Amino acid sequence: MSVDGREKPEPGRMVLISGPSGCGKSTIIQRLVSDERVEFSVSATTRPMRSGEVAGVDYHFLSTEEFRTKVEEGAFIEYAEVYGNLYGTLRAPMEAAIEAGRVFLVEIDVQGALQLRALEEPGVYVFIAPPSFDELKRRLEGRGTESPEVLERRLKKAEDEYRERVKYDHVVINDDLDRAVEQVKALAGLMEGAA
Ligand code: ADP
Ligand code: 5GP
Repeated sequence: MSVDGREKPEPGRMVLISGPSGCGKSTIIQRLVSDERVEFSVSATTRPMRSGEVAGVDYHFLSTEEFRTKVEEGAFIEYAEVYGNLYGTLRAPMEAAIEAGRVFLVEIDVQGALQLRALEEPGVYVFIAPPSFDELKRRLEGRGTESPEVLERRLKKAEDEYRERVKYDHVVINDDLDRAVEQVKALAGLMEGAA
């Protein structure tokens, strides 16, 4: 109970979703964010905005100088350079969401996830694995958003990333999408009550 007599909600939790490019992180997350108990972490990045993206919704788009200033201010719980651009997870929205009892969903690459793990940031760490590397290649090709060179680079990196799955709390194989979403929901504690 707080001083004004109102019930304080139970604290929420960070749920971190990570895994190789093309394994289905964004697809799974899209299915979770319709739940009002969930807040998606909007990262900051220095990468240029893609067509169809919305500033403040997909990312906070910053110049390199603005990003560096935030690093100096300690505004990020982690940041990393990914494929030549800087990406970072902001601390303030996470703290507010957890205090309000919400599930704060963080989608980051494997190096960012391992940084948080090393810093012992509390949360549920979920590695999304593709059913196979052949299927991962098919999905990346099917998505059609990368050039052949970038695709090749991401596939190579995926093999190294896959080895890191043992450092996570849970591995969810994204074979059947509905089943993968149900598994992530259960791990996030979202199975009780209405979704
Ligand atoms: P990530 O966010 O991990 O890079 P995406 O969510 O963009 O991956 O998924 C990559 C591609 O694979 C997309 O075209 C998506 O529609 C497709 N995809 C995701 N999950 C599945 C699944 N379970 N079965 C088949 N295709 C999938
Ligand atoms: P994209 O530019 O395709 O949106 O994302 C490229 C990569 O950056 C993805 O692997 C994504 O998970 C990662 N990423 C997005 N936001 C963050 C973040 O805040 N921190 C880190 N470390 N990686 C991020």
